[in-house]
Amino acid sequence: MRRKLIAANWKLNGSTAMASGLVGDIQDGLAELDNGVEVVIIPPAIYATLVNAALAESETSVGIQDVSRWNKGAYTGEVSAPMAHDVGCRYALVGHSERRELLGETDTLIADKVDNALSASLNVILCVGETEAQREAGAQDRVVGEQLKQGLSRVSDADWLRVVVAYEPVWAIGTGRTATAEDAQSVHAVIRQTLNGMGAPAEEMTLLYGGSVKPDNAKELFAQPDIDGGLIGGASLSAPDFLAICRAA
Ligand code: 13P
Repeated sequence: MRRKLIAANWKLNGSTAMASGLVGDIQDGLAELDNGVEVVIIPPAIYATLVNAALAESETSVGIQDVSRWNKGAYTGEVSAPMAHDVGCRYALVGHSERRELLGETDTLIADKVDNALSASLNVILCVGETEAQREAGAQDRVVGEQLKQGLSRVSDADWLRVVVAYEPVWAIGTGRTATAEDAQSVHAVIRQTLNGMGAPAEEMTLLYGGSVKPDNAKELFAQPDIDGGLIGGASLSAPDFLAICRAA
């Protein structure tokens, strides 16, 4: 049985008051949920400690949205994977399309970050996904396959089950345009095949869909055979919406 996972990517949103309130409401709601879903909250790094403390009594874990390519040293402004682990993070998001597009992250850099996160005992959620132009050119399978092969090129056999892949078509992020369940499933099947070809235990690995997941489309997406959960942006900032999505898993 693959594990089901729902992760909340808060992106660059939040404040002390918001983080405490939202985590409290999510905790209350999750206490009544027993569908076996694992939940991860991924706030801006500066709130990781606060969120982790608020989650202390629960099974829900905290993650970081990015890790540095360096572990320590004279790199002003960076936050490293060992530091994230030290303050209680259990997951690291790596290769989000916003970082690929806005900050120029390459697959080589992403492979370094995956390596650092796994070496620091973090679980990794690697994000992959095609742009609108790539989708229109029918290139989604090739683009996602390359991102996987390069981003995960240095994962050792013992670490595969600490890797989660999130398929997030760029054109569906924050746009309200979700991929159809069939289109999402089709790319998820390619992801599983690609992982299998890389020697990973693909059938046991958790694959997430992200991109405008909302309470009203979550169930259909999560019902697909290769979709094991979601990476939720906008809807994770509302406790009722996020809880409804967790319930759909
Ligand atoms: P939205 O759910 O806001 O489309 O964001 C998806 C995402 O990028 C999660 O990482």
